[in-house]
Amino acid sequence: MQKKSDIGLIGLAVMGENLALNMESRGWNVSVYNRVHPGAQTNAVTRFMEGRGKGKNFQGLTDIAQFVESIQTPRKIMLMVRAGSPVDELMDQLIPHLAPGDIIIDGGNSNFEDTDRRVAYAESKGFRFVGAGVSGGEEGALNGASIMPGGSLSAWDEVKPILQSIAAKADDGAPCCDWVGPGGSGHFVKMIHNGIEYGDMQLIAESYWVLKQVLGLSNDELSDVFTQWNGGRLNSYLIEITANILKFKDKEGDYLIDKILDTAGQKGTGKWSVINAMELGMPLGLIASAVFERSLSSNKEIRLEAEKIFGHDKEQGLYNKADMLKDVESALYASKLVSYAQGFDVLQKASEEFNWDLNLASIARLWRGGCIIRSGFLNYIAEAFEAKDKPRHLLFAPYFSSEIKESLFGWRHLVAHVLKEGMPVPAFSSALNYFFSLTSGSLPANMIQAQRDYFGAHTFERIDKPRGEFFHENWTGYGGDTKSGTYNV
Ligand code: NAP
Repeated sequence: MQKKSDIGLIGLAVMGENLALNMESRGWNVSVYNRVHPGAQTNAVTRFMEGRGKGKNFQGLTDIAQFVESIQTPRKIMLMVRAGSPVDELMDQLIPHLAPGDIIIDGGNSNFEDTDRRVAYAESKGFRFVGAGVSGGEEGALNGASIMPGGSLSAWDEVKPILQSIAAKADDGAPCCDWVGPGGSGHFVKMIHNGIEYGDMQLIAESYWVLKQVLGLSNDELSDVFTQWNGGRLNSYLIEITANILKFKDKEGDYLIDKILDTAGQKGTGKWSVINAMELGMPLGLIASAVFERSLSSNKEIRLEAEKIFGHDKEQGLYNKADMLKDVESALYASKLVSYAQGFDVLQKASEEFNWDLNLASIARLWRGGCIIRSGFLNYIAEAFEAKDKPRHLLFAPYFSSEIKESLFGWRHLVAHVLKEGMPVPAFSSALNYFFSLTSGSLPANMIQAQRDYFGAHTFERIDKPRGEFFHENWTGYGGDTKSGTYNV
């Protein structure tokens, strides 16, 4: 009789196939399953078993009962399928064949509220459920990903050896996979990771565009600039691949970047990050601007029409080349810091709201390797959150506050100059506006409160009375004394 597998994996698309190969390469026996499409000539399981899986420790099955039976108990079954209803459908197909205590791991990009629901559902049936965010794309899946598992805590000891073995290792050798927390927290953390990824990509795109359009740097010069930045405090995977992309030539010998249509796609995790930040009442402006800019970019026709109507009067202001290179680096670094500070603030708020008890330092460490936002400065973030005097805000950590102070002059000078040139830098300016609002003890919100009370009796607090006491004014002389309820949503 064939030896039972250590783990089962469902979904042999790009992520599942590579994760299965990664598991097998670390010494685990793996059963693989994919649905079969009636009438199709072949199926994903046969293709895999005769292709990349050939001669390796896999059992390929196309019958779900036999697949479940081929795995040793308590079973660990990882789903790498399209997020949404396919996960529920597969759970319904699996559950009749499972034994009490078996563990389902959802490695897809599921919505954290779906994962909350699935953890509760699986546990109510005597099973366990782990929602594990996986980042790193095809390459990470094969060679080492960043994995963010959360859900049924009792499953962690059992899935840990496998998940940590297939995770990337940070420079200090630590696996980029550790327990995040209960319910859908693993998928929430993965969602914020993706939101930060949107922000980083927009910031890099703005840097590239300013240096190309204002300084007129060639693609090779731009590539050199990004390579140089990658050797400094901006060291990260996305900066590294940007340098490679800029110098990449196609078969015709042309720079491919110049032939790619400027319309950005998106699959939803950036949008979810912003929606959830709004639900939690937390500012996530930089990621929001990155998501909205992708939406605007995708409507090329309206942009072309608007360009014809309005054009841009460029004020060719003076900017020394060396100064601009330095200031773009400052703006990129400071804005990136703001973005991470906003993202971690949302994680902290979610942790309090949902009782997740998230360890922010550990989360920063999970992202140091394997994933798309991996970068050197995540070590400093982890250290800031571990400090004895944990800062109330990431930007208050001594290391980061001094970096911001050092970058501020170049950052604000650059944003002002580029806006005068008539060029959009939505993420740079969003970050700078956030920074100025955050660091302003006084804001014009008194006017907003006055207007709200004027038209809707929404009440206001006063600077000469204790916080929490609310007042209403009869602004027009004909309004009554009746107030609207005081609450924040
Ligand atoms: P995908 O295109 O998102 O999903 C395809 C897989 O889902 C296929 O195996 C497909 O089976 C299966 N599937 C779809 N609907 C199904 C259903 N109703 N019942 C059973 N199986 C169904 O593939 P992917 O890019 O490898 O991603 C897998 C998961 O990882 C997704 O949740 C994705 O968001 C997440 N993820 C992807 C990446 C990436 O870089 N691609 C990175 C991180 C996370 P068929 O082949 O039979 O259609």
